[in-house]
Amino acid sequence: MHLHVFAGNPLDRGDVYRRDQTWLEAQAINSRSRFLPLWQLNVLIQAEPETRLGWVSPAAIARLDIAVPPVFLGLLEDVAHFATDVSQLGDPRHELNLEESWRFEEARTAATYLSPTETGILAQSKAQLDWHRRHQFCSVCGQPTVLGRGGHIRKCMACKVEHFPRTDPVAIMVVTDGDRCLLGQSRGRLARTGAYSALAGFMDQGESIEAAVRREVKEEAGIEVGQVRYHSSQPWPFPSSLMIGCHARALTTDIHKDDAEMTDVQWFDRADVLAALRGDHPHLRVPAPIAIAHHLIKAWAEGDVRWD
Ligand SMILES: [Zn+2]
Repeated sequence: MHLHVFAGNPLDRGDVYRRDQTWLEAQAINSRSRFLPLWQLNVLIQAEPETRLGWVSPAAIARLDIAVPPVFLGLLEDVAHFATDVSQLGDPRHELNLEESWRFEEARTAATYLSPTETGILAQSKAQLDWHRRHQFCSVCGQPTVLGRGGHIRKCMACKVEHFPRTDPVAIMVVTDGDRCLLGQSRGRLARTGAYSALAGFMDQGESIEAAVRREVKEEAGIEVGQVRYHSSQPWPFPSSLMIGCHARALTTDIHKDDAEMTDVQWFDRADVLAALRGDHPHLRVPAPIAIAHHLIKAWAEGDVRWD
């Protein structure tokens, strides 16, 4: 099984340690600890001697005038790793005293060149810091919340409710009918780029993965689906999705697309899909390997999906 971009996080999230506030405070000033700054959710990248995540020292963070506590990501070889939101800084590169070649990069762009383990750390960092930015107030009573357990919860000091980071599950599926598969072009990004991808949609409450797959395919394409098989999953921190990749077997073949959501839905023959994956099809384009959709489409096209 391949490892998806954003799915290779090597950190031990240290659930026992993060409950110990004294330990967390000691790690935050331990000179071996590493801090990953994100500015407006763009991640720090160092370019020399190689392009990778731009970790800085606790001393560099201590010099900054920021009120936001860091988020403890976890441990790697006994070294504590933190992510810090430096969005308050007007000129973060100057205030962090960075070398000329260091830069803040948008996460999706950075993910195209970072290693799998680094994109995993990036996914955790970006999703966590974004969640903290969006949950400054209690959704029960409206009072301010504070960060706890190194970032794994936010606590309301007024009504004492604990809020946990949210992950939004998305079912994404390649529907197949013998030697062809169903791909669509949703309004927005895909329509702008002219690419076709697997159908996908947020799971509803009180819904199994299989039910979500059948519902989404019915809604977007008017196709009835029978068997559903799980393939793999991918964290997708935009802002906090988990893509749950499946293959599904069509029971009907007549397409009735949802015009509000989709610009086009079509059946594509395996030979066309294989050419598109290689990048040498005259007009069909499919998502790049950064997206789980690419691997779901590829697995089917290369014959790795078998129905009994
Ligand atoms: Zn509250």
